[in-house]
Amino acid sequence: MDNSKYRSKHYRLWIPVAAGFLCALLAVACTGPFEDRTLERQLYVFGTIVTLSYYDIDESRANEATAEIDRLFQQMHQDWHAWQKGALTNLNQAIAEGRAAPVPASLIPLIEISKAACLKSDGLFNPAIGKLVALWGFHASEMPVGPLPAPEAIQALVEAHPSMADIEIREGVLTSRNRAVQMDLGGVAKGYAVEQALTRLRTLGIRNAIVNAGGGLGVIGSHGGRPWRIGIRHPLGRGVLGSLAVFDGEQVHTSGNYERFREFEGRRYAHILDPRTGWPAEEIVSATVIHTEGALADAFTKPLVIGGTREWYRIAKSLGLKSAMLVDSSGTVHMDPAMARRVQFEGTPPKVILSEPLALD
Ligand code: AMP
Ligand code: MG
Repeated sequence: MDNSKYRSKHYRLWIPVAAGFLCALLAVACTGPFEDRTLERQLYVFGTIVTLSYYDIDESRANEATAEIDRLFQQMHQDWHAWQKGALTNLNQAIAEGRAAPVPASLIPLIEISKAACLKSDGLFNPAIGKLVALWGFHASEMPVGPLPAPEAIQALVEAHPSMADIEIREGVLTSRNRAVQMDLGGVAKGYAVEQALTRLRTLGIRNAIVNAGGGLGVIGSHGGRPWRIGIRHPLGRGVLGSLAVFDGEQVHTSGNYERFREFEGRRYAHILDPRTGWPAEEIVSATVIHTEGALADAFTKPLVIGGTREWYRIAKSLGLKSAMLVDSSGTVHMDPAMARRVQFEGTPPKVILSEPLALD
């Protein structure tokens, strides 16, 4: 597939993201003439379209870099899949059977980061709840229809208290003291993957790029000396909410309940679960986090979605976040001042509730 395009003149380009919230918006906020030398390539992996945007490199280097990222991502997709047989499901099977199991080297950092994020978020980000995610029917490409899981079954899994704290990796061998642990890294893997891709691109000498994996992206360098700007799709399906300036090394991830959900008797049950109750988080439509570590940008959207409009600020502060934004079900935007300075709304601005600063400027 060759969908490369060199573009001249200044203008806006939206890269569609399959079921995603973020899309790359290039060349916004231009002042004066600007020659846009952006080159795009697309991959299909992680069940979504991944778009790589490069600035000011030639086609052959873009092709080589893209092929390298494709290999990296396809391998990760196989190793980390939550329900298709692979390295992670083998580990989960060993845990369920009470066996110790060797962990492939490629999985160790991701599991360790996930464990740290679980502890730091007091278990609100808890990828050990794979059995609950499966019970809700989210371990499938198609969302389930029909009645919800039995409340007793949900409660039993909650009371088994699976946590990443139950897991230990020593000399490459994983043990779990709780057989109810089933790792589902779907809430952190893409962030980690994007971060790894940025590192790989830098090694290849690429200085300006966006890796956009649908729901999450990371950038290196700039867009012709200006910050890259990404478009923010409205989580309530009202077109475009606005755009966001993103700087070298930053990653932006969004999680929401507009994406993967099931419906029953007129209510929506989305794929982000509150590990304390076993039920989907209800209130927030989407949460966006900016972080220099991709895995954490991805992971820490979950505690904010679960915390909702009342708790998000306290949680964001305890997680050490510097910029976060939530959109609630009425379309009101909740964010900190540092985030507000980066956001430009499109059209009629939404109602905004500004929090106290998250970090000292
Ligand atoms: P994302 O695509 O980043 O919004 O992540 C959503 C995925 O994270 C879900 O499909 C589940 O696999 C997983 N997940 C759901 N709830 C949690 C939670 N509380 N902690 C960690 N992972 C979760
Ligand atoms: Mg994500």
